[in-house]
Amino acid sequence: MLLRMSTLLLRTLREDPADAEVPSHRLLLRAGYVRRAAPGGYTWLPLGKLVLDRVTEIIRTEMTSIGDQEVHFPALLPAEPYRASGRWTEYGDDIFTLTDRKGAEHLLAPTHEEMAALLVKDLFTSYRDFPVTLFQIQTKFRDEARPRAGVLRGREFLMKDAYSFDLDEAGLRAAYDRHRAAYARIFTALGLDFTTVHAASGAMGGSASEEFLAATPVGEDTFVGCTSCAYAANTEAVTTRAPAAGDPHAHRATEVHDTPETPTIASLVELANARGLAGRTDWTAADTLKNVVLTVRRPGAEQAEPLVIGLPGDRDVDLKRVEAALHPATVAVFDDWPAHPELVRGYLGPQLLAKHGICYLADARVVTGTSWLTGANEPGRHATDVVCGRDFTPDGSIEAAEVRPGDPCPACGDGELTMRRGIEVGHIFQLGRRFTDAFAVDVLGPQGKPVRPTMGCYGIGVSRAVAAIAEQHHDDRGLVWPAAVAPCDVHLIAAGKGPQLDAALDLGERLAEAGLRVLVDDRTHVSAGVKFTDAELIGIPRAVVVGRRLAEGYVELRDRATGERTEVPVADVWERLAGAHRERV
Ligand code: ATP
Ligand code: MG
Repeated sequence: MLLRMSTLLLRTLREDPADAEVPSHRLLLRAGYVRRAAPGGYTWLPLGKLVLDRVTEIIRTEMTSIGDQEVHFPALLPAEPYRASGRWTEYGDDIFTLTDRKGAEHLLAPTHEEMAALLVKDLFTSYRDFPVTLFQIQTKFRDEARPRAGVLRGREFLMKDAYSFDLDEAGLRAAYDRHRAAYARIFTALGLDFTTVHAASGAMGGSASEEFLAATPVGEDTFVGCTSCAYAANTEAVTTRAPAAGDPHAHRATEVHDTPETPTIASLVELANARGLAGRTDWTAADTLKNVVLTVRRPGAEQAEPLVIGLPGDRDVDLKRVEAALHPATVAVFDDWPAHPELVRGYLGPQLLAKHGICYLADARVVTGTSWLTGANEPGRHATDVVCGRDFTPDGSIEAAEVRPGDPCPACGDGELTMRRGIEVGHIFQLGRRFTDAFAVDVLGPQGKPVRPTMGCYGIGVSRAVAAIAEQHHDDRGLVWPAAVAPCDVHLIAAGKGPQLDAALDLGERLAEAGLRVLVDDRTHVSAGVKFTDAELIGIPRAVVVGRRLAEGYVELRDRATGERTEVPVADVWERLAGAHRERV
């Protein structure tokens, strides 16, 4: 393959585009890989398409090698199967829906579990047909609340999605492990620095689920690691170890105190110490019970309901964790105070919530026998020795509190949690029978009785992976593609119009014949300086500068990653590059 810059659909930009906030987005735009075409929709320009195709091919090869079979479902689908699975309402505003000319409702598929289950039901009848795994590489549509950072979070994006069908748990686990291992090979081949973390199961339900996160400060996900064991989890999935429960009757009786003008935890702690409430002057925020009111709307429900979450006062509620915990219900900040006079703003305690029929979920640290300083449900008043299991009983437990670096590891208990940010490039689930139940996918079992297959599903954000690679492989001059995904293997720069141009084109043709992907900068109206700057911006791993020293028989080899430059006799350069290429393939 030989691309000539003189005719290539490419305009590099000197300046950073105004609305591009993260490095990958800025560089993919500036170096001419993508172009915004619609809100959350991007056109892949020739160089970008080459990278996208290479990433796609690495993924396809690996999926095929573990025995997955490629199919291609329609993206435009009727509503019925998604109604049957409950996801028509569960996905809510996140799906694009449309009505055809006959008035029938459709959607643009956000993911294809329903179709995979129906296809297997359609074609397979016997246990002998299993196990089977189908995959596709296809455009997905989601009406994201916050499309962001170009192809990192689009409303239309390319996904590899796979669906495994097994007859028993052991089979599902084996399929899951096979995909987990394949994903590790894929992300390694893509040059990504990634971590496999425990995930919240989110929209899918099901049991085990892990995400593959590419570490970068601009990632939307935050994940933890442990200083002493292998535990790694998305903060959404971090669990809190509950302390041992105590005797709820081993505490003093509740006392109510006048605490005017203390609507915040800090003001309350200051007053409690100044006054020596309950005979103590060592109150800290962690001794207080903070009660946060949220509004929760279940999918399809007419009305949202208030929910109160109780947690130690030194911690904030992390809304992303609440959302993950309550999914598919949606969560918002509560603002309907006038309609709920029983909820005393700033002075709310859990004591009366059960009486008012309001759901109260508490942090794991709020165990039976813990005693708290909290609101007395009267303006300007707080209560001491409000004891869990005596004065209130939560309706359940919720992982809602923020996770902090230094928190104890929930897995080993010895280490401390460290935190990093990352981009979710892949997600694997042991789904179970949710979708085979929805469509009664039954096949004849070995004993003549019907058996119902159990599913796994496995996604990779293909277009997002391109951005993640760019995020991890760039410097202040531009992109620095890993060789395995670079749009071309070599960038030839004709630094001069005469013999240099002819020599560069000649070398380019011979390299292309040897199987290399070659980009030749054969532009005649552009200075050598501009060509060098563009080459660094575009980020192809190797450049060959055909310049002044051509007359003496030399060209210069440049390595984009190391910046190393070497003079090489023209006579040797073909062998150097083509030889290295032969060894790779
Ligand atoms: P996110 O939490 O980032 O919204 P998700 O958990 O909803 O993603 P999945 O349903 O797990 O996404 O989809 C599988 C993969 O598809 C994700 O791991 C991610 O790499 C990719 N992906 C999801 N949404 C987008 C999007 N809007 N743009 C680009 N890639 C996406
Ligand atoms: Mg996911």
